[in-house]
Amino acid sequence: MGIKGSPTCELVYKDAPAELVGSRRMGLIKYVMALMNGARLGIAAQSVGLSENAYREALAYARDRKQFGKAIIEFPAVGEILSVMKAKLDASRALLYACTRFVDMYKIYDDIAKERKLSVDEKKEAKEFSRLADAFTPLAKGMTSEFANQNAYDCIQIHGGSGFMKDYACERVYRDARITSIYEGTTQLQVVAAIRHVTTGTYLGWINGHSSMECLPEDQATKGTLEFMTQQYAAAVEAVTGVGDPGYVDFMARRLVEMAGYIVMGYLLLEDTTRCADFRRSLEVFVKYGQAEVAKHADFIANFTPDQLSNYTF
Ligand SMILES: Cc1cc2nc3c(=O)[nH]c(=O)nc-3n(C[C@H](O)[C@H](O)[C@H](O)COP(=O)(O)OP(=O)(O)OC[C@H]3O[C@@H](n4cnc5c(N)ncnc54)[C@H](O)[C@@H]3O)c2cc1C
Repeated sequence: MGIKGSPTCELVYKDAPAELVGSRRMGLIKYVMALMNGARLGIAAQSVGLSENAYREALAYARDRKQFGKAIIEFPAVGEILSVMKAKLDASRALLYACTRFVDMYKIYDDIAKERKLSVDEKKEAKEFSRLADAFTPLAKGMTSEFANQNAYDCIQIHGGSGFMKDYACERVYRDARITSIYEGTTQLQVVAAIRHVTTGTYLGWINGHSSMECLPEDQATKGTLEFMTQQYAAAVEAVTGVGDPGYVDFMARRLVEMAGYIVMGYLLLEDTTRCADFRRSLEVFVKYGQAEVAKHADFIANFTPDQLSNYTF
């Protein structure tokens, strides 16, 4: 369907002589997971690139295309789509950079540990960065790839009928974006990896650590919204885990992971805005969007009873 610049085929080996690489029993948990976590970060970066491409193509077209005597960018419906695309793009990049920083930090400690013994404090910090990298990698891959797909969809929408044809770049962006939420583990598999950090409190710990951050007076109300979303998230986690059924947690997992994602990305944009006012618009648009998404999930969870699960099982 897409990424035609990277030809893909299946390789089958028959009776090929093989040699063991590495140690026995470490294949899946150590080597494959290390490889996949690195690759997942790569797909998150690919997703940010696709989101950027989708946004630029949509913005250029909306400025250029005239309907009913004006550029379509002047219609509120088009303006809203573009603003949300930009907010998702900026939020995706913020999450990608936060995640890559955690990965860099624990890897740097790994390298230092090869040369000398780490101090107790260094060991503690290395462990914390490793845990954050483990929590943020599936979150980043899951959220940024879903946003890339949504931005590619919206890019076509802004192009109207022309977007459906092969004449514009958005058609390729749409096809290329589709694989990002599938390979290196589908979004459902990212949720399987991330839910542990919902139930053990890694995301909530990080979020609570950020709730004491200083922000500018003009962003105080937005921060208040993030604090309210956090309360809804914490209540939802308690309601779901309180049932005491792992199957129920699995069923609600994507909702909980997404709630954490919206709050984390909101705080990252708040940090960006504190450093540079250019991010304020994306911060406000993203938090408004995330607020509605978090409320939707909170509402679903609050109004769901475990006996209704049978409607969703086959
Ligand atoms: C273009 C392309 C390039 C690729 N490159 C590589 C490569 O270089 N190396 C490589 O090894 N692989 C590669 N792949 C394979 C790719 O990683 C897999 O296709 C992908 O991880 C999904 O696995 P699957 O196709 O087996 O789907 P399945 O695992 O069969 O999934 C099917 C559906 O079931 C759902 N599902 C499965 N398990 C669970 C679960 N536990 N909980 C909830 N839902 C679940 C999935 O989310 C999905 O919706 C590539 C694939 C493509 C299309």
